[in-house]
Order: sequence, then structure tokens, then C-alpha cells
Amino acid sequence: MKIVQTVMEMQRLSREWNKQGLSIGLVPTMGFFHEGHLSLMRLARSRCDKVITTLFVNPMQFGPNEDLDAYPRDFERDESLAKSENVDVMFCPETKEIYGDDFQTSISVNLLSKGLCGADRPGHFDGVATVVTKLFNITQPHLAIFGQKDYQQLALIRQLVSDLNFDIEIIGHPIVRESDGLAMSSRNKYLDENERQLATCLFEAILEAKKMVYKHGGSIASDEIVKMAQDRIEKNPSCRVEYVSVVHKQTLQPVDVADSEAVLALAMKVNNKVRLIDNSPL
Ligand code: AMP
Repeated sequence: MKIVQTVMEMQRLSREWNKQGLSIGLVPTMGFFHEGHLSLMRLARSRCDKVITTLFVNPMQFGPNEDLDAYPRDFERDESLAKSENVDVMFCPETKEIYGDDFQTSISVNLLSKGLCGADRPGHFDGVATVVTKLFNITQPHLAIFGQKDYQQLALIRQLVSDLNFDIEIIGHPIVRESDGLAMSSRNKYLDENERQLATCLFEAILEAKKMVYKHGGSIASDEIVKMAQDRIEKNPSCRVEYVSVVHKQTLQPVDVADSEAVLALAMKVNNKVRLIDNSPL
């Protein structure tokens, strides 16, 4: 596996592969790999001749009071895990390589970035859309894989690819979970033992919501789901809901009826410290 740190070198390699008629699969990440990341790499490996994973903790998608500096990092471990998945290139540029001193451009996906995480994290999705656009231009992939764990991000990237005519197939990979249902996340590392146990309330709320929809013959008022999920989360005094919302699976607009067209999206903070998200189709 080759480690590439400069835009010029990455573009040169991608251009060379494109010239040779090889297909390129891209897996963008912020590193501190877990089984979720590795599953995305495995899928790319099974679909493409060349696999690039990018490791870049993107400052533009962090708010001023967020965890940019504390974000977990372990380059050696990531390198060895990506290698074991037969990744061809790990692109890991320094911040100044991606954002030069005179950097001025920002990409906004207007509607899809407004609600859910966008409401709690102003500017976050402009940072995501901008860096992903840059990574597409730098790596020139045929296909890019994103996790459904970040459901709003995935919807926004599909929109961006369509709006800006990128000739790239976008694949959403199902959420990879721990054995007790907690969605894998690099941020789970912040949880102490007690918090780790409480964190399963998001998945429990999802299971209960699915049961409610099923019991009511396939559709139920969204309000009932929202109330149940809020209660489940906030029965733990350490857990505070950031949002619980039943939204249309494509537009992400809130819907009154929870049915097979809807997704339950949840975010909470544990001890006002660790922000966790989850979602599921209903
Ligand atoms: P991150 O490093 O957290 O930015 O994630 C990089 C990519 O991995 C994104 O497309 C995420 O949606 C995806 N991802 C993160 N956690 C999971 C998970 N538990 N299951 C599936 N995909 C995931």
C-alpha cells in the first residue's frame, strides 16, 4: 500500500490508472478505523481495480466548539488495517495541502444541509460538501462509498453528485454495529464504561420504533415514534436528545406518518460530552 500526501502525486496516480482503463473506488474517512470503515474498503475492493482510502480530519466540517483537536488519531494502526484490506493508496494530506492560505471556495447543498445534524452543527455540511468535492477532483474515482450511518451526509453527497454532474457512482453501505446494536463510530472511544452501556438506548429506540410500525400494520403517526424515542433516551439522566425526527428517506423533510418511506433519525449527547447519531428506515 502506498501512502500519498500530496495532491499532485495523488492526481498523477489517478490519471495514470484512468489512462490504463482501471476502475477506481474511493472511501473517504477521518481515520481511527473500525469495522465500519473496513467494510467500506472491502466493498470498494470487491468492485474496483484500485482502491483509495483518504484519511483527513477535515477542519472545515468542525464547529469552533467541537472536537477537532481531540478527534482520535492513530496513523500506524490505520495504516496497518488499510493494508490488511488490500487498499492500494492511503491518501493522507496535511491540512495545508488541502486548504492553502488563500482558500476561498465553499460548496453548499442548500436544502439537505438544513435540518437534523445541520441544525445542530452550522456549517458542518458545507465543510463536508467542500472536502468531498475536492477529494473527488483529486482522486477521480468511478465509484465512492459512504456509510448509511451518516445518513444526511450520504443524501447530501448524492445530491451534490447529481447537481454538479460528477460521473461517479455513489454507494451507501449499511450501518455496521457492535454486538449490542451500538453503531460503530470513532467517537465511541470517548465513552467510559457506564456511558458505553447507556449509548445502546439509540438502537433500542430504533428497534421499538420498528415494532410500533409493524404492530400498526405498516404506518403510525410520527409523533408517537418521536415521543417514545425521546422518552427512551432521556430516561437516562446522562443522555440528552439533540433531535429525534421521522423524515422522508430522500428529501429528509419531516413527515407526519412513519411508514416504509420514512427514516427515523436520532442524535443525542451523553454527559454533554459525546455526540452520537443513529438512524434506520422504518
Ligand atoms: P468517518 O471516518 O467517521 O468520517 O467515516 C468515514 C466513512 O465511514 C463515512 O462514509 C461513514 O458514514 C462511514 N462509517 C462510519 N461508521 C460507520 C458504521 N458504523 N457503519 C457503516 N459506515 C460507517
